[in-house]
Amino acid sequence: MNIFSFHQASDVASAIALKHSSPSTRYLGGGTNLVDLMRETIEHPDTLVDVSHLSSTIEQGPDGRLSIGAGVKNTALAANDIVRAQFPLLSRAILAGASAQIRNVATVGGNILQRTRCRYFYDNAARCNKRESGAGCDALEGFNRYHAILGASQSCVATHPSDMCVALAALDAEVVLDGPEGQRRMALRDLHRLPGDRPDIETELKPNELITSVEIPSHSFGQRAVYRKVRDRASYAFALVSVAAMLDVDEAGTVRDVRVALGGVAHKPWRALTLEGRLKGEKATAENFRAAAEAELADAVGLRDNMFKIELVKRTIVAVLEELKGEKA
Ligand code: SF4
Repeated sequence: MNIFSFHQASDVASAIALKHSSPSTRYLGGGTNLVDLMRETIEHPDTLVDVSHLSSTIEQGPDGRLSIGAGVKNTALAANDIVRAQFPLLSRAILAGASAQIRNVATVGGNILQRTRCRYFYDNAARCNKRESGAGCDALEGFNRYHAILGASQSCVATHPSDMCVALAALDAEVVLDGPEGQRRMALRDLHRLPGDRPDIETELKPNELITSVEIPSHSFGQRAVYRKVRDRASYAFALVSVAAMLDVDEAGTVRDVRVALGGVAHKPWRALTLEGRLKGEKATAENFRAAAEAELADAVGLRDNMFKIELVKRTIVAVLEELKGEKA
């Protein structure tokens, strides 16, 4: 680990100014990923700006919209009464991720911006385009069981590791960004990029922008939600695939509305818009769920070790929607 200076920002404006002072400055949330990356000498910032205490409230507006400060700890968010009652998908996804100790420290902002767990990214002896643009990608012909089947490129086949982000993508969450040019907002599902030929550029954040909060609109059918994570062991493991879903079926058995997002399959949380478009207005049957899943995965491409994920994610989608179909409003 290199020598670095540490600043605790007093407010958002001073955090942005400090970040602007050096190109190798990094914002610090809980540090559960960044400090690991520093220990492994993958990241070597000369300055850390602690922003973990700047926005740590959870508030609901009169329209039901939930605003979550970027500094809210994952444990606090999962345990929040409003979240558990009205947005259980989010609570369940958070509790499916990491360990209790990590969730106690990790922040919402840090969770969103955590980096891939591709083993070659963490190995300085391996070729990795994400670490060094143009170096090559050792995962393409290496151990790639956990890698992407959707939206990948010949430059990078890494996946985004967050469970929380998969739920946020399904919930139509927006991120609020503060930066040198003021404040703007963006759909969470548009924040992370697909790798293309520049996997080292992971998000649409502008230089020195800071995620200050996340907002979730109210959902009339948000209580009917499932987060299913399929993994190699029961706890403290990243997803092979995960499915976050909400389903609204009318009395005649027709899909009124549906939200599905997938984890463990792409460089970003994957919102299944094709599937949703296919299902709305159709009968809620296993056959239609399967056909919609087939359409969503039509462009999926497997690698040597992860070909099984294409079928696994289709079956998980059908199982989750079948479970939701039986739930009452
Ligand atoms: Fe690096 Fe991406 Fe290849 Fe992994 S998959 S080695 S992160 S370029």
